[in-house]
Amino acid sequence: MQIVSTIEELSQTDAQGAGGGEVLVPTMGAMHPGHADLIRLARERAGASGKVVVSIFVNPSQFNESTDFEHYPRDLDADCDFCQRLGVDIVFAPPPDVVYPPDEEVPVGELPAVATEPGLEDAYRPGHFAGVCRVVRRLFLLIKPEAAVFGEKDWQQLRVVGAMTDAEGLGVEIVPCPTAREPDGLAMSSRNRLLNTEARAAAAAIPQALEAANACPTAVAAQVAMLGVLARAGIEAEYAAIRDAETLDEVQPDAPCRALIAARVGGVRLIDNGPWAAALLAGD
Ligand code: AMP
Repeated sequence: MQIVSTIEELSQTDAQGAGGGEVLVPTMGAMHPGHADLIRLARERAGASGKVVVSIFVNPSQFNESTDFEHYPRDLDADCDFCQRLGVDIVFAPPPDVVYPPDEEVPVGELPAVATEPGLEDAYRPGHFAGVCRVVRRLFLLIKPEAAVFGEKDWQQLRVVGAMTDAEGLGVEIVPCPTAREPDGLAMSSRNRLLNTEARAAAAAIPQALEAANACPTAVAAQVAMLGVLARAGIEAEYAAIRDAETLDEVQPDAPCRALIAARVGGVRLIDNGPWAAALLAGD
């Protein structure tokens, strides 16, 4: 496995860029089994001849709170060992001035509607998707992968990256990876390690709320049910919503829907989502 941190080093790796069959897994490190699922999927997609490239970069431009950025867990040595064990070919772990050279403008491009309209992550983390689009676009242009794997755990991000890639014709296939969960259902996240014992126990109410939503026949009832489950665990949600799975606009009849939750638990912001099928059953 090659570990590189500059553009020059990257260009000297076995990665061949456009047409070379690279599959990129963009991460912010602090690896957990959810990242392992992404890497395995990338390996499958890359086949025997393509390379799996994992980028590890805690992207300052996507944090809207400086304390969140400062406290974000970082452990590059452990992350590289993790990647090595999973058969990753190249780890690209650049410092901020390689991604954002002081003398070079790194453009964001035009943000797709799903990055600005839904009133979900876009409303609660202003500037977040501009930062995500900036860094993903930059990584795509530097690495020129054939495909890139993103987790369904960050559903709005997955839709935003897909819409941006389509709109700009970046020519990268976006491969979604299902959410990896702890035995009690909590979605795995680098942020889970910031939870104290009490908050960790309460956080299990988030997947329970998603499950409760699925037992409800209408979007309104599902929202009430989610808020109820969260409140009983002492969790106040930022949002608990049922939306069109693609656009994240209001629910459309006969279109796939998604239940999405964001909440602060013991001071740690957690997000999760799952398919919501009730609308299809009840014609909501
Ligand atoms: P992060 O390092 O948290 O920025 O995440 C890097 C990638 O891993 C993103 O595409 C996330 O959506 C994905 N990811 C994070 N948590 C999970 C999880 N529990 N299951 C699957 N993918 C995940």
